[in-house]
Amino acid sequence: MIPYGRQQITSDDIAAVSAVLTSDFLTQGPMVPAFENAMAAYVGAGYAVACNSATSALHLACLALGLCEGDRLWTSPISFVASANCARYCQADVDFIDVDAQTGLISLDALADKLQDAARRQQLPKIIVVVHLAGHSMDMAAVAALTAPYGIALVEDASHAVGAHDGVAFVGACRYSACTIFSFHPVKLITSAEGGMFMTQTRELAEKVMQLRSHGITRDTAHMTEPSHGAWYYQQLDLGFNYRLTDMQAALGLSQLTRLESFIQRRHALVQRYQQLLQHLPLDLPSQPPQGRSSWHLYIIRLHDDTRRAVVFDQLRQAGIGVNVHYIPIHTQPYYQQLGFCWGDFPQAEQFYSQIISLPLHPSLSDDEQLQVVQVLERALAVTST
Ligand SMILES: *Cc1c(COP(=O)(O)O)cnc(C)c1O
Repeated sequence: MIPYGRQQITSDDIAAVSAVLTSDFLTQGPMVPAFENAMAAYVGAGYAVACNSATSALHLACLALGLCEGDRLWTSPISFVASANCARYCQADVDFIDVDAQTGLISLDALADKLQDAARRQQLPKIIVVVHLAGHSMDMAAVAALTAPYGIALVEDASHAVGAHDGVAFVGACRYSACTIFSFHPVKLITSAEGGMFMTQTRELAEKVMQLRSHGITRDTAHMTEPSHGAWYYQQLDLGFNYRLTDMQAALGLSQLTRLESFIQRRHALVQRYQQLLQHLPLDLPSQPPQGRSSWHLYIIRLHDDTRRAVVFDQLRQAGIGVNVHYIPIHTQPYYQQLGFCWGDFPQAEQFYSQIISLPLHPSLSDDEQLQVVQVLERALAVTST
């Protein structure tokens, strides 16, 4: 099977992890801060806090921004469920903003309309989680122009967008957002096996997230409610979690980061080749955002005839092409239907979903494998059209 996404592990990665295994610390040693500092420097963020997944980083972002019962969080229905679940962990309500059916990104028009309506009904969200689907950065300046008058905090779910750039700054520099979340799951841009990171320019938010990822405990006397009892002393100030990344994972992430640029260059070369090889087929091909560079986490094609998507998908899978669908609209998941959402609530998202297939795209995909993907797709589309 040629997978849609896959990690690339070199002997350098293995050596970096092995070195940690024989060192003094398997966790909470020097590698986690080294990885955090390297990521912060790379994207131009003031602070970085590593977590054991993007999901836990999203949860802590919501807590640090004060999301609680009675509050609302909005996000895109075309995302992984974690973008919405973070609100439910805080007992807050979730709602969705419909997408642009061409790109699958949140529609600015839909956002503007929904904000106006919510303002009238005094039901504005506290947080909006913006999703940079496929590694294409949303126009954050435009999003912020709409949300700033209402004081809504923006959280960027940049799980797909490590190394993406908006034309002025890297995603993660948080020019318009409170914070940005990265994922280091093996199918993403770089991996630490499991892992995620919280990026921000705000010291207080970073300190809050750092405390919450480790049980709500502080060892900083400046944050304590009474004088320290001695060098052993710590205080639990809040109900936190164990959401820490290990040093083994951080060593892998740090080693991978040195190859991020080459990963993205290879992804761009593969995308260019797909664009040429597929242009004659009855498909809508994805396009780059007008500014900056995409990290091209996913290559999502759209079939003109959505009634044939399942058949084409099955033919690709049967021929050993590990295609996938990103994503099933979150509001249609049974859990969200139980909360009152229905099919039909977000028609553009549902239209997008009905047409899409993600083709294999990852740095170790060879030219030959890519050609094989194209040939199988050509055949599948020809067969199903007759
Ligand atoms: C992968 C992903 C997540 C979750 O990442 P984990 O590190 O697996 O928790 C969240 N949001 C989006 C958009 C993702 O693609």
